[in-house]
Amino acid sequence: MPHAPTPLALVATAVALASHTAFASEPPPRSLSAENTIHAASAPAVTYRLTLETPADAPPRVAVTLRFAADPDGRTTLALEPSWGGFDNDGRDVSDLVVAGADGTPLAATRSEPWAWELAAPAGQELTARYIIAPTSAPTDVPNGNDYRTRLTDSLFQSIGHFSLLMPEHVADEKASRFSIDFDGFDRAGWSVLSSWGPGNGPFDRELGSSEFRHTMILAAKTEAARMHRRRVMDREIGFAIVGSDWGFTDDAFIDLATRIIALERDFFDDHTDPWFLVTVTPEGGRATQNSFSLGGTGLLDCFALYCNTGLSLDAGSPFLAQVKFLLAHEYFHTWNGTKMRPTDGSEKDGGFGVMWFSEGFTNFYARALLHRAGLIDDAAFAEKLNEALAGYDANPFRNAENATIKSKFWTDPNVGQLPYQRGDLAAVVIDAKIREKSGGARSLDHVMRDLVAKAASDPDMHATAILDALAAEVDADTAAWLRPVLIDGKDVPLPTSLERPKLRLVAKRVQTFDPGLDREASMKSGEVTGVRDGGAAHRAGLRNGQRLRAFTIAPGADRTTPPRAKVEIDADGAPRTIEYDAISEPKDVRAYEPA
Ligand SMILES: [Zn+2]
Repeated sequence: MPHAPTPLALVATAVALASHTAFASEPPPRSLSAENTIHAASAPAVTYRLTLETPADAPPRVAVTLRFAADPDGRTTLALEPSWGGFDNDGRDVSDLVVAGADGTPLAATRSEPWAWELAAPAGQELTARYIIAPTSAPTDVPNGNDYRTRLTDSLFQSIGHFSLLMPEHVADEKASRFSIDFDGFDRAGWSVLSSWGPGNGPFDRELGSSEFRHTMILAAKTEAARMHRRRVMDREIGFAIVGSDWGFTDDAFIDLATRIIALERDFFDDHTDPWFLVTVTPEGGRATQNSFSLGGTGLLDCFALYCNTGLSLDAGSPFLAQVKFLLAHEYFHTWNGTKMRPTDGSEKDGGFGVMWFSEGFTNFYARALLHRAGLIDDAAFAEKLNEALAGYDANPFRNAENATIKSKFWTDPNVGQLPYQRGDLAAVVIDAKIREKSGGARSLDHVMRDLVAKAASDPDMHATAILDALAAEVDADTAAWLRPVLIDGKDVPLPTSLERPKLRLVAKRVQTFDPGLDREASMKSGEVTGVRDGGAAHRAGLRNGQRLRAFTIAPGADRTTPPRAKVEIDADGAPRTIEYDAISEPKDVRAYEPA
C-alpha cells in the first residue's frame, strides 16, 4: 500500500505558508482482522523471544527466536510486512537467519524476496527460527515522512513489528492467532522495556490478527537514551517512553498533558477498559524553530508513537503547545476510530484510502472539538486549527480529487496526503451542525460516533457505506444527498457561513501555499522533468517538460514569511544547470472562519 521510495533525494516536506508547517504524517489506519476464532486452550501459534546480546567485543544486538509449527502444505514461508508507513521493507532487520527442525537439524531457508524466506519442512513439524537484529546506523536516505524503521544503538532498541518480526505466512493468513512474546537479557544489561504488550519482560500472551500483532511497538533502553514512566488513569496503567533529552519540556509536563487528553477521550467514549497503553516520543528531523516544525505520529497496538522535532516547549505561550495537544488528541482518538472500530473501504487489508475522510478527517474534527470543550484550547486556537484545514483545502490543487487519486499519491504528494484530513474534518463540521439542527440540539455527531463504536464491539470492521448510512440517518434530506458525492467523489464540502460552537463566521482571504509547479513525483520517478504547469513557479524559473533531472530538493523556509525553496539540477543541452525558485503557488483566494 505505501508507495515506493523515489529514486532521487527529497529533502523537504510541504510547507503551507498560510498556516502552520506541522502536519501529522502517518500511515492510514489499518483494518485488523475480525473475530477471534481460536480456542482459548490452544498453544500459541508463534512464540517470540527477543534477547539482548551484549558481546564484549561488539555492539549490542537483538536475537529473535520464534517457535511455530511448519506450514501444513510442506513449504513454510517466513515473512515481514512487504511495506509499511511509506517504506518498502528491505529486510535489514533479519541477519543470520537459521531455521531448525524439531530435532535441531538445520533447514535451508531461501530468500525469495527482500522480506521473505522459504523452506521445506514436514507439515506441522515444530520449527525454531533465529535471527539477529543488527545495530543500525543513521539512515542515509531521507524518508518522505517519519522514519518508522528499527533503531538499535548502544543504549536504545526501538522497533515496530512490521519491520522486525518475522511471521510464518500460514499464521499471518489466519483471522486471529495466539501469540506470545517475551524479552530476555535487557534487564541484566541495565535496559528497561516497555512495549505494546505491557511493561517489562513478560511473557505476554494474546490472541490477535496478524496485522495487529505486527503493529507491536517495542522500546527498550538504558536511562541515558530513554526514560520510562508509568502512570494510572482510573486505575488503568499508561506507560511513557521518552527518547532523547533535548525536548524543551520536562517529562512530567508532557506526561501530565498526555494523561489529561487520554482521560478526556476515554470519558468521551465512556471507555476506561484498556488495562495498558503505551506512548512513545521519538526525536525526528532535528530541532523545531518558531515557524518550521514537524510533529507526527502513528497509532500502533495499544500504543501511539510520536515522532517530533525536539525543542518543543510546552510552557504557556509556546507556539508548540497547541500543536502537541492536537497531535496527542488526534493520535489517541484512533484508539476508537481506527482500532476498536476499524473503518474500511473494503478495497484492501489495510483500511483503505477511501475511508480516510472518516478515520483521519473525523479524528481531526474530534481532536479540535474535544480539546476546545475541555478548555485545553480557546476559541482563537480552535478557529486557527479549523482555518488551517480550510485554507489548505481551498488552496489544494487536488481538492476535488476522488479517493482513487488519494490512494495513488498519498505518500508522494503532500497536498494529496492532507486532502482526506481536510475534506473529512470540514465535512464533519457541517454534519455535526446539521444533526444538531435537525434534532433541535438533542443529538449531535457525538451520538453517531458512540453508536458506531458500540456497534464495532461485536464486529470491528466498519465499512464506509455503513458510516455514510449512519450519518445520513441523522441529517436532513438535502445534507444526506451530498454525503457520498462529497466524501467519496470529491465534490466541494458545502460549508455554512457561520458556526455556533464557538460562534464563527466565514470570510475570504488570500494566501500562497506550497506548490512546486510540476509533477514532482513523476519527475523524480522518471528522472525527467514532467508535468510543468504553464505560468507556475517552475515554468517561470525555466523548467520544461523533458529536461533531464539530476537532483531535486526543496528546503523549507526558515520562518513563516520565507517560502520553501526548490533547487533543481538538470541537464540542459548536455551541460548541468541549476534552477532555483520559490516553491509556492500564485496567490489564491481561500476562506477562513473568524469570531462572529
Ligand atoms: Zn491519524
